[in-house]
Amino acid sequence: MRRDVVIVGAGPAGSALAGVLGELGWDVLLLERRSFPHHKVCGEFLSPEAQASLQGMGVYAAVAALKPAPVTQAKLVSRAGVTVQTALPGCAWGISRFALDAALAAAAQQRGVDLCTQATATAIRQDGQRFEVIVRSGHKVESIQARAVIAACGRYSLPGLPPYSDPRSRTGQRQAGYVGIKCHYQQVAMPAQVELFFFPGGYVGVNPIEGGRVNLCLLATPAALDRGGRTISSMQEAIALWNPALGRRLAGGQALPETEVAVAPVDTYRPASPWAGVACLGDTAVMIPPLCGDGMAMALRSAELCAPLADDFLRGKLSLAGWRAAYQTRWHAEFDRPVRLGRSLQTMLNLPLLADVFMGFGRLAPFLVTALFRATRSARSRP
Ligand SMILES: Cc1cc2nc3c(=O)[nH]c(=O)nc-3n(C[C@H](O)[C@H](O)[C@H](O)COP(=O)(O)OP(=O)(O)OC[C@H]3O[C@@H](n4cnc5c(N)ncnc54)[C@H](O)[C@@H]3O)c2cc1C
Repeated sequence: MRRDVVIVGAGPAGSALAGVLGELGWDVLLLERRSFPHHKVCGEFLSPEAQASLQGMGVYAAVAALKPAPVTQAKLVSRAGVTVQTALPGCAWGISRFALDAALAAAAQQRGVDLCTQATATAIRQDGQRFEVIVRSGHKVESIQARAVIAACGRYSLPGLPPYSDPRSRTGQRQAGYVGIKCHYQQVAMPAQVELFFFPGGYVGVNPIEGGRVNLCLLATPAALDRGGRTISSMQEAIALWNPALGRRLAGGQALPETEVAVAPVDTYRPASPWAGVACLGDTAVMIPPLCGDGMAMALRSAELCAPLADDFLRGKLSLAGWRAAYQTRWHAEFDRPVRLGRSLQTMLNLPLLADVFMGFGRLAPFLVTALFRATRSARSRP
């Protein structure tokens, strides 16, 4: 069977783009290796900037219907207990990936997209203007022909994306640096704010999500994880000792073990590659450090940037080379600066002395913290 477009990965980027192209009348196959709904490691903080992209791609109402928790403030607590609190530049949403990813995939289906779950793309091949995607579904292996392929497979890469970029080999030791774990809690009294607690070797983000729950998500080095005991409950106890403010926040809360998931390795320093033989969206192109809370907004925005170019390509108005050049130019213009700043911010906040100096300044002038975090937003999405 020959499709107009195959999109690999039904995260926010893949599902949002699929929906737009489906609505434009293209025959879109959206491949997802897992089934819905599923828990995903994420802070579940959907920044105010993401809402403009949701609106731009016609899926704002589908996400608003999930009744996300409003988040209007941000609080940072250093290892030494220095605290900075600042207003967010708009109302963010706390929303579980369990609900969000399923809703975006369902919205794409409603717009005519063919969603195929438990289907893993194992290779992408290109022959002139034609693409072939090899898909494994259980024991079945299928070859799908397509006029266009788009990679939205998150931080994973695919053999066959030329040049093949295996995330495990790109940045060597630094790559082994982070492990992500997340878990939902109930019975935690939490204001409408996102809170970041730093500890030796990582940080924890806590914010309210829909249904009165709270999401806790940590990013830590394997060494910190070893010190803390490797499970969310033992880590929670250890971090509460390293940063007592977290212990106070979670006091009386009950972890929901069925929501606990972990992921490794998380490489927030991998070089950007918005095009690797095909257009790469979201985390496939680059990962901004999670503490910026902007990964999903960037994923959605990259889908928004790609949609009109993919449409022009399918209509024959743009060559593959033209699509590549235009997408790369727009992508770099929007994301190079925020990613660079986000990485510097993460490096600084992980260094105890610098973090305390930063927090000290932030206490005196919270608008500086707001301005810095704003600078980690792409030019288009800044409100
Ligand atoms: C610890 C941590 C905390 C974070 N916190 C936040 C936060 O609070 N706010 C925020 O905005 N961002 C946060 N992020 C970043 C955010 O999770 C990502 O930026 C976002 O999920 C990127 O969306 P995506 O669509 O590009 O990729 P993903 O959401 O990763 O989706 C990719 C999809 O592709 C599927 N897939 C992969 N390979 C294949 C294949 N070969 N075939 C078929 N399907 C495939 C995967 O199963 C997945 O569903 C965090 C990240 C981490 C690691």
